[in-house]
Amino acid sequence: MIPQQQLSAMTENVAKIRETMAQAAREAGRDPSEILLCAACKTRTVEEVTASAALPIDLFGENHVQELVEKTDAGAYCGKPGHFIGHLQTNKVNKVVGRATLIESVDSVRLLDKIEHAAAAAGLTQEILIEINIGEESSKSGVDVDGLWALAESAMNRPHVRLRGLMAIPPATATPDETCAFFARMRELLTQARSRFGSELDVLSMGMSGDYPLAIREGATIVRIGTAIYGARDYSKK
Ligand SMILES: *Cc1c(COP(=O)(O)O)cnc(C)c1O
Repeated sequence: MIPQQQLSAMTENVAKIRETMAQAAREAGRDPSEILLCAACKTRTVEEVTASAALPIDLFGENHVQELVEKTDAGAYCGKPGHFIGHLQTNKVNKVVGRATLIESVDSVRLLDKIEHAAAAAGLTQEILIEINIGEESSKSGVDVDGLWALAESAMNRPHVRLRGLMAIPPATATPDETCAFFARMRELLTQARSRFGSELDVLSMGMSGDYPLAIREGATIVRIGTAIYGARDYSKK
């Protein structure tokens, strides 16, 4: 259980986000139901996540393998899907394959091969997105735009991997105009990817607490929101 006050705040936050999402969708001439709300719940406890699962959140996103394991084992998502959205180390792939319904952060052939291997061993097909380092920042994970096509080609050739689309985090320092341009570029890349590899690529994961209305305007189908749902993160407890 979490304090009633915290639950009320979260309930209000999610209602507001849903309203803003719907409005951004309508302004862009889109159907609000085609955009999913992913609660980015890194550092949140099992209790907090379990409480939030009763709210109109579509799925959960984890950055750390340990948290994904803990929260799925505890049933914290209450039957809703869990995505992996953080940097994934190849030695932890086994714990994520099958547990995450979508791995959003695939950015190397090496990681792809580990996922293929683990999925084959588990007898399942793992859905993935390719993460693009759209701002070409040296500090960020994600594949450069130049490397996208070779990686996508590799993904299409792995029988236990199903490529569903693209994910990105634009630079935190970008202005709103720059952020919009990055999101628009992502939409173009998805359009190109669809024409090369087929309409099964229909997922565009982009937009966080500070910029999700812009992302929806530019075509996001998943927005990943943490702070605006749960409040500021407290890393001191971790
Ligand atoms: C933390 C995180 C988010 C959410 O960020 P907020 O600014 O708290 O909404 C989204 N995507 C990824 C990959 C994250 O790590």
